[in-house]
Amino acid sequence: MRAAKTMETAEIVGVGSELIRGETLDTNTAEVALSLRPYALEVWRTLRVADDPARLAQTARELWPSARLLVFLGGLGPTPDDVTTEAVAAGLGLDLAEDPQMLAQIAARFAQMGREMTAANHKQERKPAAAVWLPNPRGTAPGWWLRSGGRDLVVLPGPPAEWKPMWAELLPRLGLPASGAVRRVVKTHGLGESQIMERVADIWDRGVTSGIYAHPDGVYLSAEGAPAAVDAWIGAVSERLAEYVWGYDGDTLPALLLAWLRKRGATLATMESLTGGLLAGLITGVPGSSQSFLGGMVSYSMGAKARFGVPAETLAAHGAVSAETAAAMAEAARATLDATYGVATTGVAGPDELEGYPVGTVYVGVAGPAGVHSRLYRFPPLGREALRQRSAYAALAYFWSLRE
Ligand code: AMP
Ligand code: MG
Repeated sequence: MRAAKTMETAEIVGVGSELIRGETLDTNTAEVALSLRPYALEVWRTLRVADDPARLAQTARELWPSARLLVFLGGLGPTPDDVTTEAVAAGLGLDLAEDPQMLAQIAARFAQMGREMTAANHKQERKPAAAVWLPNPRGTAPGWWLRSGGRDLVVLPGPPAEWKPMWAELLPRLGLPASGAVRRVVKTHGLGESQIMERVADIWDRGVTSGIYAHPDGVYLSAEGAPAAVDAWIGAVSERLAEYVWGYDGDTLPALLLAWLRKRGATLATMESLTGGLLAGLITGVPGSSQSFLGGMVSYSMGAKARFGVPAETLAAHGAVSAETAAAMAEAARATLDATYGVATTGVAGPDELEGYPVGTVYVGVAGPAGVHSRLYRFPPLGREALRQRSAYAALAYFWSLRE
């Protein structure tokens, strides 16, 4: 939805010199911006600012007067380079007050971790007198929140595992105006962005603001707008893309697949060559995966493939990178671990080609009670990391597409 000119703004600032230098990728500001999507606040920029007291103070001074919401993330640690609280307070002319109760809480946390609190931690008991603490049960640095003239200033620690639960609790309490709009996502695999656009061009912006984004697990299409229009759009797009659609909104391939297996009392085993355990890693990242995932083998060499049960004749006749070997690997994984299904990956991650196949040539094998299948994927030479990731997701997507 296009922001009306009169919409109030939210300003989000990631604090840390490491963000400027590129040593840490700033994901925090984007995540806060995403969390604000249900609200009628405009986020037209996000900022990164170094751990520099004067610049931080200047930033606070510049942004606060016109923002409905101003969020700083980072720089609340005990070390001297973390100066956000002092700098923001100085910039806005707020007096800092010490809070012995907070110090006692921080001390208790240290005791709980069996560590000694240092003198440096004393600065974490300071916040502007008019602000309220935002407790941080997962770390030592609490955040703080100042409400003033119907506007909100929020200062949170940098580590995502710490600020996310704090923010999730605070956000509904801020009383931000709702936009009335919803955002929904259709997740696909197996078609490129341009192929998708060809299929949905005529319904693309029918009553919603639509978007299309490539992810490691496929191409996502999103719609934002009035709930009825969004639902209609999601329905129409799903119909057009039919078998390429694997999920919606918060769905992930490994979680869907595991839920499907669990419902059938079925089990899964993997054998991975180019993905080297990434596939098993994605699967075991889902809570409860042990109910359905039996285990996996990383069969990186020809010898390992043979040892884990791939017939020597298959390897000799077709090589490591082939549909036949992928299928045989899946079947071997299944047989070795006595699983209902086996999934396998083999291919060329690069930088050099292999057996005459170009980088990005990937075969996925799937074996199950109904037989063995394999499929070729030809990815562009994206680099090892991206290729391995794409391949692991392709294996999950292929399995998902074959489910009966
Ligand atoms: P800080 O609270 O500034 O000391 O940040 C502590 C840690 O939080 C950093 O070392 C990063 O791992 C993480 N972090 C800080 N800022 C960000 C950010 N903008 N995006 C992602 N991670 C961050
Ligand atoms: Mg820092």
